[in-house]
Amino acid sequence: MTPREVAALLAYVVQLDPRLALDDQAAAAERLTQWCDLLSDVPATAHGWDAARVARDYIARNPYRIQPSDVSRPWHTHKADAMSRHVGTFEPTAHPEVDPDDQYGNAYVAALRAERHAIAAGHQAPTTHRALTAGPAAAVVERRLAALGEYMPRTVAQALAEYRPVRAERERLARENAPDPLTVACTWCKAAEDEPCRGRAINPRNQQTRYRPMGKSHPCRVEDATAAQLTRHTTQEAAA
Ligand SMILES: [Zn+2]
Repeated sequence: MTPREVAALLAYVVQLDPRLALDDQAAAAERLTQWCDLLSDVPATAHGWDAARVARDYIARNPYRIQPSDVSRPWHTHKADAMSRHVGTFEPTAHPEVDPDDQYGNAYVAALRAERHAIAAGHQAPTTHRALTAGPAAAVVERRLAALGEYMPRTVAQALAEYRPVRAERERLARENAPDPLTVACTWCKAAEDEPCRGRAINPRNQQTRYRPMGKSHPCRVEDATAAQLTRHTTQEAAA
């Protein structure tokens, strides 16, 4: 808080609790200096934070005269809480200057650091979504994601998802521990394991046949993959 903000806060608390009023100018100036010092690292307002509101709530609930620490302590708790809820990833879409392929580059590290600072200072709300599940399924999910190869941070992968739809779909299935059709070959279009299904298109002009990768797998392949996963699960349970 700036001295001006601290002075405004003091005027407000004196209004709420007249016992805090000081007739002596020197004592008032001394108190202002003390509050300015102790609240210099506390913002007046931030994400989910309002110092005036905290002071008001304190006065409403406590018979004691408010101290600067009654505002600074809740702020540090608020800040720690925001940091613990933050998953430590940043939204790449909010940082177009960052090259996601340069993940160990300075821009990426600087952006992560800037975001942590922004959350600590209350300028930004923490990112609280967590992709990981808990429990025994999480281990299976982790194994499948590891098999697909985690060569970039997951948030970056999400931002790039639209440019690599096949991989994004496989990662989504792995996270949900749903059957992945690409783990088996397709008996319909003969696409090999790890290859997407192919659609056949015939050029009406020269009758030439073309194959292009399809976004979806043939239904028989989905069925085969589901059966294969069931078999795997049964085998794993029998082994356990
Ligand atoms: Zn197919």
